[in-house]
Amino acid sequence: MAESRTWSKASMTAQALGRIDPVTRAIVPPIHVASTYIRDPDNAYSSGFIYGRPDNATIRDTEAVIAMLEEAQAGALLFSSGMAAATACFMALEPGDHVVASAVMYWALRNWLVTEGARWGLEVELAETDDLAKLRAAVRPGRTKLVWVETPSNPLWTITDIAGAAEIAHAAGARLAVDSTCASPFHTRPLALGADIVMHAATKILNGHSDVIAGVLAARERDAYWERIGRIRSGSGAILGPFEAYLLNRGLKTFFVRAAAQARSAATLAERLSHHPLVARVLYPGLPQHPGHDVAARQMENGFGFMLSVQVKGGEQAAIGTAANIRLWKRATSLGGVESLIEHRASIEGPGTPCPPDLLRLSTGIEDPGDLYADLDEALSAAHR
Ligand SMILES: *Cc1c(COP(=O)(O)O)cnc(C)c1O
Repeated sequence: MAESRTWSKASMTAQALGRIDPVTRAIVPPIHVASTYIRDPDNAYSSGFIYGRPDNATIRDTEAVIAMLEEAQAGALLFSSGMAAATACFMALEPGDHVVASAVMYWALRNWLVTEGARWGLEVELAETDDLAKLRAAVRPGRTKLVWVETPSNPLWTITDIAGAAEIAHAAGARLAVDSTCASPFHTRPLALGADIVMHAATKILNGHSDVIAGVLAARERDAYWERIGRIRSGSGAILGPFEAYLLNRGLKTFFVRAAAQARSAATLAERLSHHPLVARVLYPGLPQHPGHDVAARQMENGFGFMLSVQVKGGEQAAIGTAANIRLWKRATSLGGVESLIEHRASIEGPGTPCPPDLLRLSTGIEDPGDLYADLDEALSAAHR
């Protein structure tokens, strides 16, 4: 009886799968820092480890936790950053392949796609993937090899129907990859919804403490494409360092409590700010008036995430002024950490951004939600005096 019981993801994550170091019985496994491993006298490598660039035991420990979270049959691969993970998915394609990506998505990846991705020979088409009819019109059967979707997507939190996008991609002979950074495994299970690959900037809420740059991919099927991605990581030296992998594993132990608290706070803030006299609009998929709310309610679980944006009355100067007057929130880029961050997003994205100039992006941390609201309320007033 007891052996057949399976524990919840929350329990498994809290204990990093319950692994115990076989040598010392330590409850926290050691950090494997070796760059190289002893070859056996018979010329074999009986441990399976040869050199630090392709693989590492500390990396594997952390990958196993994320593979469990994502229900990834083929496992997970950790990369030196979210961008390294994402770009490996595109570098595993052939020059001439057609790819469709969300028009509203993480700015740096969008830039990479239309510059370096195009130089790689990819034909990149941006589509409003939150409208499945537009996605269907953008894919070219037989020519499109990868559909890349970010949901909720930066910084408007548009929602793409993952199951619908998977059906469209697969019917055209393409794979579906989902950047699930802002949903996190707490809210969305892209592989269970039909995606082939899920990607996270583990820099964000998976690590949760703003002290690691890391990325991860997890896959449903161990096919030739997934193996090529592994070779790209190894060949380009894009594996995560063991210290970062350890920190990420440590951060993951509190992932469920952090994600729950952050989502609860974000929902409270979104609701309260939507009635604020100096706020023109709140963008949060949990609000019934958000254009993606119905799809989000269907495909997200445990709430709607920790990210929201507000459009401030008075335009760009009022938005920048609000950020300037903030005290508890930290004025910084990035997201998903325990400390709440505020950012005037158009300033960092620069010319050509689809981000409205009056928009502030909010990453909700674990501080007292009453304090977070009061700080925003005072900063909004100060900017409008
Ligand atoms: C931060 C982020 C990335 C890139 O991750 P890095 O670790 O900074 O390279 C990609 N996608 C989303 C949605 C992100 O927020």
